[in-house]
Amino acid sequence: MRLKLPDRAAFERLVASGADIAATPAASPRSSGDASPLVDVVVTGAALKTLQSQGARVVQVIARAGDGTANFRASKAAAAARTAAGLTAQKGGSRTTAAADATGADTLHFLQSYWWTSKGQTFVQVEVATTAVQDPDVEIQVQWETADGQTGTFPLQRFVDADEYQYHVALPQAVPSKPVKLVATSSLGGTATQAPKAWPGTTAPPAPSGYQQDFISAYMTPTDIQQRLRRLARQYPELVELVDLPNKTNGYRRTAVGYVGDPAAAAIVVETKAFGSAGGNGIQVKTVAGTGANRPLAATFRDRVLTITLATGADGTVVSTTDEVAAFVAAKFPTRFTAFVEDGSAGKVMPVMSPVRLDDGLTASGLSRPWQVQALRIGTHRDGSKPGVLIYSQEHAREWATPLVTLEFAERMLANAKTDAETKALLDSVDVFVLPVTNPDGANYSFNDYNFQRKNLDNFCTGAARDPKNRNRWGVDVNRNYTVGSVFDGYVGASTDCLSTVAAGTGELSEAESSNVISLAKNHSNIRYAMNVHSYGGYFMWPPGAYSLPGRITLPRPDAEQSAAFLASAKRIVGAISTTRGTVTWPSNTGPVADVLYSAAGNSADQLYYEFGIYAWDFEVGNDLWNATTQQWEGVGFQPPYDEAHAESQEYAAGLVELVRVARDDAADEPTTTRREAK
Ligand SMILES: [Zn+2]
Repeated sequence: MRLKLPDRAAFERLVASGADIAATPAASPRSSGDASPLVDVVVTGAALKTLQSQGARVVQVIARAGDGTANFRASKAAAAARTAAGLTAQKGGSRTTAAADATGADTLHFLQSYWWTSKGQTFVQVEVATTAVQDPDVEIQVQWETADGQTGTFPLQRFVDADEYQYHVALPQAVPSKPVKLVATSSLGGTATQAPKAWPGTTAPPAPSGYQQDFISAYMTPTDIQQRLRRLARQYPELVELVDLPNKTNGYRRTAVGYVGDPAAAAIVVETKAFGSAGGNGIQVKTVAGTGANRPLAATFRDRVLTITLATGADGTVVSTTDEVAAFVAAKFPTRFTAFVEDGSAGKVMPVMSPVRLDDGLTASGLSRPWQVQALRIGTHRDGSKPGVLIYSQEHAREWATPLVTLEFAERMLANAKTDAETKALLDSVDVFVLPVTNPDGANYSFNDYNFQRKNLDNFCTGAARDPKNRNRWGVDVNRNYTVGSVFDGYVGASTDCLSTVAAGTGELSEAESSNVISLAKNHSNIRYAMNVHSYGGYFMWPPGAYSLPGRITLPRPDAEQSAAFLASAKRIVGAISTTRGTVTWPSNTGPVADVLYSAAGNSADQLYYEFGIYAWDFEVGNDLWNATTQQWEGVGFQPPYDEAHAESQEYAAGLVELVRVARDDAADEPTTTRREAK
């Protein structure tokens, strides 16, 4: 859902509650008037009702549970039909402490002002800072003027993050043609004037005739992708090799579990120690009353049936409580079972139950093995002598478009190497690592069980949090499990709660998935550039990606030279993305993660940048689409109808090709494979 919240405090409550926030379109400002924070959030019906009762308003239903499955099936069916037919400026650091002057007037500064044209519609976007940083009621209006004298105005909203005033900003505004002059006016009397610049102001070289592209025909599961990687390795042996990453994942596997009793009245949860696929599934549990008076609590496990004989009192009736039964089972069968009391059942007498079957709740039992994660290494010289580029996707399971982007990129590089001189030259000078599915177990769960799954399948909950009603909330957020600026170091935007959507795990690099990404950086010291591909929202970001509170202290900001390099490269890559279908990543969504999206403690790009000295970027593919009828921006979601995902794969693959050109050009300026000094 895209929600409009009543105020900034509501947004901060939402974050603090551990809500599953997917995007924050154009920051999340608090302001007077009707300008209120927008947020894309994954919510249950009950949670939505609560939010609505607190003043939230639904702006857009982006996707419903199950939509992903329908879009997946439709994409596969369409692919099959085609086959059958025989077709083959640094932000956030600009805060100023100057107060309004004695007369009460403030001073305004344009931090950014840009215009661009996308699909025939021209837009303008600005960020303006007032010196009256403490005054929450300052209102700023911007008047635009085109070359032929048309004018119009729009309001900005005050953007505060972690109690620190950042600037005033608005969503990109549709204007009739290129604006030549912008005048910002504050309610305190300050004004500023600027001629906006073209954004991003760069275009990529056009693809040469005969350039091959469009290698994606449907959404792809981890199994589909594994087959594609093997095929590419067979087809282009001189240019590519498969790299087995050192850490197998736990696998698409869970323990078997069941409620013994009535969860609404009195019940315990019994869970096998073994995975369901390794014998846990199908084990049965039953309770029987002891025969006669004063019988002790007892249990046997025979022929895959756990029989619990409940204790009786002097009058022969059952006296065992849920707590006693759960503790007894766990103590008597420590290698076979664990058990705990269902919420609300503590102290109640355990009911007599006919056999209950334990189950892992997974629908795709054929996928149960630990997963060998694989990357492609692409280049003419794969010996560490050329600068390396690491491109990885689907850390988050539900982001189905992201491996399509990285696979399309990989196949473009391989297929065109023989026929396109520039592609050949790129592969002669750069060593590219492509890891399409970082989190295959979570991806399998997302495709087969719960399409909004974000995390991996490693359940580190203990006790009652292992209740199967929480099954869609278990797992570790792979992109919060890294070592720099982590929640364990006191940074914001991750959680040690195992049920949180941004659960960081039991410790830094506790997970196979994150350890695999770092192993690539560690084992290949020539890697100097990295791109972490996520969805959705249309962002282009770099470090710092986290801050600590109080005071919103970010990880160290890149120095002026590196900040300039990040921004200059970003403009080239944003320009290349725009050539496919005119998608322009907004200036307000281009910059450090901590400034343009949110604080993400323990994310991978921060470790790659600060520990290894790698220029580490993040994409959020899937830009908002402009609805000309409603004059609104609309979110695309994690699993859009396939045509949209396909378009994202094509445009962002072009961006990745431009990233490789950036690496090539940078290395030509500085012919060494040594990384920059890590911060
Ligand atoms: Zn993500």
